Amino acid sequence: LKNLEDVPDTLPVISPELLALTRTVADRYHAGWGEVIKAALPAGLDDEEHELFSLSPQGEAALQTSNLPSAAQAVLHLVHKRKQLSRKQIRHALKKNYKSHTLATLKLEGHLHTETRLRKSSVPYKTEKIVRIAADAAPQDAVETLLARSPKQKELYDCLQNGELPLPELAKRFPKYSGPLRQLREKGLVETLSTQVSRFDGEALDLSAAAPDGPLKFTPDQEKVYATLNAALDAATFHTFLLQGVTGSGKTEIYIRCIQQALDAGRTAIMMVPEISLTPQTVFLFRRRFGENVAILHSGLSAVERYLEWEKIRQGEVPIAIGARSAVFAPLKHLGIVVIDEEHDGSYKQDSTPRYHARETAIARAQAAGAVVVLGSATPSMESRHKAMNGEYQYLTLPKRIGTRLMPTVHLVDMRKERDERKNYSIFSVEMKRAILERMDRGEQVFLFLNRRGTANYVVCRKCGFVFECPHCSVSLTFHSRSKILMCHYCNLTRVMPGHCVECGGEVIRFSGFGTQKLEEETRALFPAARIARLDRDTTRTRSAFEAMYRDMREGRIDILIGTQMITKGHDFPGVTLVGVVYADLSLHIPDFRSCERTFQLLTQVAGRAGRGTVPGRVVIQAHNPDHYVYDYVARHDYNGFFDKELALRQRLHYPPLTQLVTLAIEHPSEAQGEAYMQHLQSQLAPLIREAEGVELLGPARAALYRLQDQYRWHFIFRSRHDEALQALAHKAKQLDAIQKPPGSQFKLTLDVDPVNM
Ligand code: ADP
Ligand code: ZN
Repeated sequence: LKNLEDVPDTLPVISPELLALTRTVADRYHAGWGEVIKAALPAGLDDEEHELFSLSPQGEAALQTSNLPSAAQAVLHLVHKRKQLSRKQIRHALKKNYKSHTLATLKLEGHLHTETRLRKSSVPYKTEKIVRIAADAAPQDAVETLLARSPKQKELYDCLQNGELPLPELAKRFPKYSGPLRQLREKGLVETLSTQVSRFDGEALDLSAAAPDGPLKFTPDQEKVYATLNAALDAATFHTFLLQGVTGSGKTEIYIRCIQQALDAGRTAIMMVPEISLTPQTVFLFRRRFGENVAILHSGLSAVERYLEWEKIRQGEVPIAIGARSAVFAPLKHLGIVVIDEEHDGSYKQDSTPRYHARETAIARAQAAGAVVVLGSATPSMESRHKAMNGEYQYLTLPKRIGTRLMPTVHLVDMRKERDERKNYSIFSVEMKRAILERMDRGEQVFLFLNRRGTANYVVCRKCGFVFECPHCSVSLTFHSRSKILMCHYCNLTRVMPGHCVECGGEVIRFSGFGTQKLEEETRALFPAARIARLDRDTTRTRSAFEAMYRDMREGRIDILIGTQMITKGHDFPGVTLVGVVYADLSLHIPDFRSCERTFQLLTQVAGRAGRGTVPGRVVIQAHNPDHYVYDYVARHDYNGFFDKELALRQRLHYPPLTQLVTLAIEHPSEAQGEAYMQHLQSQLAPLIREAEGVELLGPARAALYRLQDQYRWHFIFRSRHDEALQALAHKAKQLDAIQKPPGSQFKLTLDVDPVNM
């Protein structure tokens, strides 16, 4: 028996409903139940700062009589003297004499009260430093003399004369600001002050035009969709809808109205968005409609802030949770609706343990709670669209953009001709260059998109654009420079690097990654007069840097914005009339059976960024392999055509959504030991596969990234049309001695159910 250390909560941290859900998730994804519970709870939960201790009247009395043990007396004295203390402060003050069970006992006996530290405001704040001209700065002519011999300080000072600047912004404009700034402060010319700014301060972005106050009058299309959802919400039973609506067709308006309806019926709502698109804009939109009724669960918040938001939900103070993946575990009671925006987004699948899919988890939760699920997207995942086709989900569409705004026109440029016929070796085709210059002349904005997700080394024919693929798996073969071979990362097929193209006999070249930084350099060289900014993970590590760029873009201080996927969602820049896609082929040749689907979704998504204002948009796509079917469907905005084509392909090659997959990934620092273990595993798995009904085993194959952080990586793929057979097999495989006790501790094994990145 052990001492009870503490009873920290009066309410259980996890409800029976979430306990059951986490159990289901743990089973489905072969994770530990504890791991899933941990993922479902906010990280700041065990923070020692949350709980504040104070003396109860009984504690005051006990302090007088002093018939408690000395350790307890010491605690009571301390709390008496300082009124209110956190656990951390008590621990700090008592040092070696601190015992957590003393605190717990005092609390249980009623000598100590506790309360949760909750901030008054519901909007999380952060502190930001602002730099400005000092209020009592010397008169202008005196300043001129003071700064006559310090050009750097003068420059900084002059800039601030146009208005105060947040420190990160200043740092961006003057990379070497710190010396001059310090000197200016010493001279009393400039001052810095700290202000509390809201992390999600939509107001500052002036989105008033984008977000009308009251509900809008629905278009007939919206009305039709809403009527159906309305009926399901009234029935208050589990039902899943797939709402396929082109970008700008008014899906968000429908989500908002449905959530309102659930609230009116006394129920609660979860609004899920991909991590990357939980922007101030999204939050602002929801705050504007629902005010304080919204809690935000976002990884950009500190642990304490996240905890506080979570606590508001748990206490039943807030009926709407908006957030990324983990919002599926928001501790709401009486759940009425879950909306999953951009349901196709890969970020809904967690890529570390527990490897759950938030979309599927949301559906499981809604089913248990009798809630309605709305999956929304302009480009639904193959899985969801397939289920809608089979009637498992109810299919709803919004085929048109709101108002008179047209879909952008898409123009495809053949980069082979560019090179061979026009002798243009630049990254920019003649067409792209002209289109950009036109926008500059008219004072419109351009968004240059680099379609890039990791680096794939593939081999392409310089003349006809043919890309070497695996004949069995239809994924691009990956070039390994060390051994000079081509390999399939699904079935391990190996080929020597060919000297010539098998299609046309042309010269074959190897193609590898190309980054946004390089693109920025080339763009600056070609358009020296343009104001250019780059948005990717490197340039926007901090939220304020991101927001500053966002403001610059909205207010027209940037002409060309260079970016990756980060920009494709949830950002509305009405000034952008041209979207240029530089290397559209890049993501097509990632060795993943979903690379076409992803490319289609991405290109459709970026195209949607063009022309949301009053000027119609134009999209220029540069491709080395423009004959690929994906471009046709992108250009025609034809999701359904793409779906049919892709589904037929998946059918033929036995890929999801026609089958389901489970991967078993293995990592080890030694190639030889890893290979030997792979052979052993294969021999152990073979009999299981023979017994199992309709389950196939692919591999072992090298992972697409064969060597990562000094680890060699392999995987097996289990594939089946029957979910139950597959799950049963995965459970059996997990029990194998070879998997339970791999030879040595350096092996890392991971089971991934319904993998999203292969
Ligand atoms: P989606 O989520 O499908 O991309 P949004 O809901 O963001 O589309 O709608 C696009 C734009 O149209 C937004 O500015 C929105 O305020 C506006 N909008 C939506 N519905 C209506 C409507 N019924 N009448 C007028 N404007 C609308
Ligand atoms: Zn293959």
